[in-house]
Amino acid sequence: MSDCVFCKIAAGELPSTKVYEDDNVLAFMDIAPIVKGHTLVIPKRHCDSLSDVPLDLLEKLIAISQRVMKAQMSELGADGVNIHQSNGAVAGQVVPHIHFHVVPRFAGDGHSWNWRSQSYDDLSEAQMLADRMAGGMSE
Ligand code: ZN
Repeated sequence: MSDCVFCKIAAGELPSTKVYEDDNVLAFMDIAPIVKGHTLVIPKRHCDSLSDVPLDLLEKLIAISQRVMKAQMSELGADGVNIHQSNGAVAGQVVPHIHFHVVPRFAGDGHSWNWRSQSYDDLSEAQMLADRMAGGMSE
């Protein structure tokens, strides 16, 4: 997509601070890190979201995300790592080209997820939603 900022980064038309690159995958530093070392892992070809990614390419993206995570721990001394992936604007996806956020975590890094837990009215509500999703699980 000609107007996609991540396609431009993948093509080298926009600069990035690269961590890793191969024929299919690019990992580069997020310019607005939530924790320093925050890295984005993207496919070089355009896919809007997780649902568009062929499984062979998804395997490569996950494998590189794992390698970035391990490097954050071994080389940056991260105590833990979050891998975050959003699909759709309502879910917080700002750039509509699939990307995995690989975020190194350090004790006292000051970041916290706004993880607001809810509860079901009763177990039948959870079962009803599970049944609906189960109906859509075919490949
Ligand atoms: Zn793109």
